Amino acid sequence: MKYVIVSGGVLSGLGKGVTASSLGVLLKSAGLRPTAIKIDPYLNTDAGTMSPFEHGEVFVLDDGGEVDLDLGNYERFLDVNLTRDNNLTTGKVYSKVIEAERRGDYLGKTVQVIPHITDAVQDWIEEVAARPSDDSGAKPDVCVIELGGTVGDIESAPFIEALRQFQFRVGPENVCFVHVSLVPVIGVVGEQKTKPTQHTVKELRSLGITPDMLVCRSERPLEDDVRDKLALFCHVSSEAVLSAHDVSNIYRVPLLLEEQGVSQMLATRLGFELPEQRPLLDSWAQMADRVDGLSEEVHIAMVGKYTGLSDSYLSVIKALQHSSFEVGRKLVIDWIEASDLEDSPNKDNEAWSLLNKADGILVPGGFGDRGIEGKILAAGHARENNIPYLGVCLGLQVAVIEFCRSVLGWQGANSTEFDEATPHPVVVFMPEISKTHLGGTMRLGSRPTLFQVEDCATRRLYDGAGHVDERHRHRYEVNPALIEDIEAKGLKFVGKDDSGQRCEIFELDNHPYFVATQYHPEFKSRPGRPSPPFLGLLKAASGQ
Ligand code: GLN
Repeated sequence: MKYVIVSGGVLSGLGKGVTASSLGVLLKSAGLRPTAIKIDPYLNTDAGTMSPFEHGEVFVLDDGGEVDLDLGNYERFLDVNLTRDNNLTTGKVYSKVIEAERRGDYLGKTVQVIPHITDAVQDWIEEVAARPSDDSGAKPDVCVIELGGTVGDIESAPFIEALRQFQFRVGPENVCFVHVSLVPVIGVVGEQKTKPTQHTVKELRSLGITPDMLVCRSERPLEDDVRDKLALFCHVSSEAVLSAHDVSNIYRVPLLLEEQGVSQMLATRLGFELPEQRPLLDSWAQMADRVDGLSEEVHIAMVGKYTGLSDSYLSVIKALQHSSFEVGRKLVIDWIEASDLEDSPNKDNEAWSLLNKADGILVPGGFGDRGIEGKILAAGHARENNIPYLGVCLGLQVAVIEFCRSVLGWQGANSTEFDEATPHPVVVFMPEISKTHLGGTMRLGSRPTLFQVEDCATRRLYDGAGHVDERHRHRYEVNPALIEDIEAKGLKFVGKDDSGQRCEIFELDNHPYFVATQYHPEFKSRPGRPSPPFLGLLKAASGQ
């Protein structure tokens, strides 16, 4: 097993996840079977209880793991399926060690960060890296490990120490350290400054890790003299100082690294042969060109809660993008703050004008009651005006509420999540869900949906499959007792779970595309293999 370990310096948000994923693509293109581990040095057991508006989206895996969004990048870039254990957190490793201590595994010993936590980290990495992560069921050959946070943080210190020791455990010839840093441009002459990178590498080396490659984030390509200077001060060769400047789209990042000889450097460092033909890279190049070539726009209104962090809806954006490439349109997402729709009784503010000109409307998943009435208005607007609509999870629930209020005349219909005393509880708490614990207690992960009809739009989008496995993350569901009444008015629950009770997909009669899913289809969307319900929205929105 080979390991590529990616750390980061200077500041967060440099695109370390994309760099790590891109390295994985290069390794995969060289014929290796990749997997990935993300280390998050926070005390939460997992990302499930963290706010997407602070930390970005909570990504959901097949096994129900609620994890950091970088695992989504890995799944999409490497086309793998990961497990909850591929996201290692401080919370997880400490729980494990403390549990072992209580069991008496360390009887007589003082349990310490070094060696007990650091050993547990290394054991964890070795065990998880060996797990099959693709359909072949074969053991991976290479594991990309991304260390979250910035080198020098108190929180990440035990992990850095574990990784330092790890190179000796598995042999230095099997480990490549890559450090991602920032090269800012200062002043009127636009000089690229090396000092922040010098400092972060110094810090990393003082912790016992010498990077094999430096990935320098900058707006424009690194100047040659800057590269030489960084090599001199950071104890790497000039060729190993890589320019990761801004590119036109994300699919260019692996190609940008490739152009600078990264695959060859990895092959030399880790001791594998680079094949002549690497068709995977050709398909990335085609994808990158295709994305740059899109010109005719399609406008999708995303009605959600925003705080300026678009990472909160990362997988939804990706799924929309994948679909837009497929239909050959340039995606424009018009962000609409749901509560702004509530604030304008005459429907004449900016939010409404964006909604009015949308080719398609999407209401993504969400929790809490802020903006709910606005989302209900958006669903009603789409239904009445024949505008293509896709509801995801909460987006399904609000559309059902709207339908029950407007079409069935059930005034005050609501979800018990937002109104416990509603006279028409059309969306209700699922009986098996814990009311005392919030972490990891939802209906989570991959569950089957069975189509209830031979032919419908979503089933066609799923190539006629009789059943589909998609990922879930919810506590509430459409009230099974009311499904018959709702269907009688034309909103058809065409997909249900294996009990036949639980609503998974609806479609509205006599509408170009009014579809919603209780599951989150966005988590399984891939470039070149867009999520079917999203593809349906984009096809409908672009008149295809
Ligand atoms: N809050 C809703 C529920 O728990 C929807 C969740 C979601 O959209 N992921 O059922």
